[in-house]
Amino acid sequence: MTDKPAFRFHPDAYAHQSFEPSDEACAACGRPCVWKYTQHIYALPPAPAAICARCIADGNAANAVPDGDYGLHDFSFDEEPSEELAREVEQRTPGFATYNPFVWPVRGGAPLAFLGFGGDANLAGEAKVKAAIAVLAKEMGAEEINPGDVLIFKALNGDTYVATLDLD
Ligand SMILES: [Zn+2]
Repeated sequence: MTDKPAFRFHPDAYAHQSFEPSDEACAACGRPCVWKYTQHIYALPPAPAAICARCIADGNAANAVPDGDYGLHDFSFDEEPSEELAREVEQRTPGFATYNPFVWPVRGGAPLAFLGFGGDANLAGEAKVKAAIAVLAKEMGAEEINPGDVLIFKALNGDTYVATLDLD
């Protein structure tokens, strides 16, 4: 496997600094990380010292946590995805910094991909992003929502955008 694997449910994970360059040894595979995971790993202590991007991508991180049981996000799905896709999001998709537990949208049994925050430079001007934020505001009965308080997701196949809330 490449040292810098892609993550379909979090395609900009490297740009979002879910990883940082490091030659520290990975606690799961023992090899130099190259790209070391920077986000929290939800598991029983002790927390692993370092986990590489390869071991996030293939789930080998399980070897470095008690009982092999862990998650990478503090979240819930809004609909139940298939067990296989749920596991890919929970354990093999890098996390990102949020203030609170958040909702990860699922449509038709498939989780959407996390693109970033509504205020990000590459998302803020997009009409479909603005529309998704407007839908969320309407659901909440709010006049408008600060784009920086919103997580933006997009369907893997197709053009469906969904915004969910992460208030600070
Ligand atoms: Zn590793």
